[in-house]
Amino acid sequence: MEIIRIAVLSDNYIFLMLDLDRKIAAVVDPAEAAPVLAELARHQVELVAIFNTHHHGDHVGGNKELIAAFPNLCVYGGAEDRGRIPGQQVYLVDGDRVQFGDYTGQILFIPGHTRAHIAYYFPPIDSDVPGELFCGDTIFAGGCGRLFEGTPAQMVGSMTKLRQLPDNTRIWCAHEYTLSNLKFAVTVDPDNQELAQRLVSVTVDRQNLIPTVPTWMGIEKRTNPFLRWDVAALQSSVASNDGVETFAKIRGRKDQF
Ligand code: ZN
Ligand code: FE
Repeated sequence: MEIIRIAVLSDNYIFLMLDLDRKIAAVVDPAEAAPVLAELARHQVELVAIFNTHHHGDHVGGNKELIAAFPNLCVYGGAEDRGRIPGQQVYLVDGDRVQFGDYTGQILFIPGHTRAHIAYYFPPIDSDVPGELFCGDTIFAGGCGRLFEGTPAQMVGSMTKLRQLPDNTRIWCAHEYTLSNLKFAVTVDPDNQELAQRLVSVTVDRQNLIPTVPTWMGIEKRTNPFLRWDVAALQSSVASNDGVETFAKIRGRKDQF
């Protein structure tokens, strides 16, 4: 599947999935419509679906204008987001499936950032391609979303689901927060050599304005403190021996960072 990353607003990414044989596209979390419409016109494809991960304005802001331009498209979102996503037509729960061209996406219910948040996971259809995960504001490269409507225990449950995906899953997260995330990460995981290396390389990438999204599940499992609440080094750095408490303390420190 071809995926186009569109940078919008101050640090958001919109993702456009293309099926050039069928001349169709689907968009994940259109913060704005205009840059999406421009890409659709450039590739001469019809927009058939909006896949929303959650109701925040920087993820659904373009819905209405895109629906006006493509009245036959279908708007997908989480069942718990009923009434909060403009134009929503399909109310997805954990384990549901969505179709785009040859690809079948699996819905993961991952509350925490919001109480209704979902992710879309498209497993590989060949052995030589990665799976694709669209996880909104839940896992970020080197970090995780703030807990606006959920508890640390809920977020740990959601992260537990996500980190069961294969290491060679590409993670399409919705913000370019990686550098500041990694600057924080080294403060709670200071002896992690791969993390230290990652901070160095991401610092160079961002100096050159190179996007750091997508990231990979394997890298995140090894370097993202918000996937490592059960690792001894992380627990001892926040003086806890409980996974959820460790996660909560790390999240609390990040909120103050
Ligand atoms: Zn959000
Ligand atoms: Fe966001």
